[in-house]
Amino acid sequence: MYSDLNKKVAVVTGGSKGLGTAIAKRLSKEGASVVINYHSDQAGAENAKKDIEAMGGKAVAVQADVGTEEGVGKLLKAAVDNFGGLDIWVNDAGVENKVNTHEMPLADWQKVINVNLTGVFLGSKAALAYFVENNHKGCIINISSVHERIPWPTFAHYAASKGGVGMFTKTIAMEYADKGIRVNNIGPGAINTPINAKKFADPEQLKRTTDMVPMKTIGEPEDVAAVAAWLASDESKYVTGITLYVDGGMTLYPSFEGGNG
Ligand code: NAD
Repeated sequence: MYSDLNKKVAVVTGGSKGLGTAIAKRLSKEGASVVINYHSDQAGAENAKKDIEAMGGKAVAVQADVGTEEGVGKLLKAAVDNFGGLDIWVNDAGVENKVNTHEMPLADWQKVINVNLTGVFLGSKAALAYFVENNHKGCIINISSVHERIPWPTFAHYAASKGGVGMFTKTIAMEYADKGIRVNNIGPGAINTPINAKKFADPEQLKRTTDMVPMKTIGEPEDVAAVAAWLASDESKYVTGITLYVDGGMTLYPSFEGGNG
């Protein structure tokens, strides 16, 4: 569908499952070669690689912690060594855990901020350095969240990390716009991935979630991947610094539905 993605090279962090796998597969379907990053789930990343190869695509699975400079350096090197360069960097890796803020161990705060925010900074820094050095108009896509905008009690570290990703993205989009480098966020709502598997397996919890979605349904990873492909392609060549919410309307204040308020 997006012929300009053919032969492009993408790095997808957190690619061993969930949204990362769906994005890696979709970019591959468009003809891109993909570095699939995993942290601990090697089998998940190898399966994604096999699926991509079975469809005729090219991929490598690379272990790396996105919260370290060494980790993101490994991913960039894998893109250059295996596929000859870098065009698209997707910061997808993310973690969360539920805990009251007054009881939150500092270690929980640091872990979530380190993966979700510092990881986005380090990944973006590596990609930007490559693009600037090579005078290349690449793009960066960050997987943020509706919690870039909506507060989330008992997930304060997560909401803070995604809010930070929002302003970080706007800032670097402006900083590198004159070089033709585009940086955008996708803000998923409630999507059917392993992070939510337990919650959505419980009919009551699933209903509580879908009640917060004007479209009354949860999304699929492919809904997010489709937007990632568009943002990576030249079809969005005049789009930078935005957060595109993929949320069935969750950010539209659903409590006003039916004319309430
Ligand atoms: P997931 O748990 O299925 O996948 C997260 C991935 O991140 C995993 O592959 C995990 O191994 C990887 N990861 C964690 N720490 C890492 C590290 N230090 N280095 C490298 N990789 C690491 O979750 P998902 O639902 O696919 O979420 C992907 C992204 O989308 C996350 O940033 C998440 O916050 C965001 N998001 C998801 C939803 C949703 O409903 N699923 C909604 C909003 C935002």
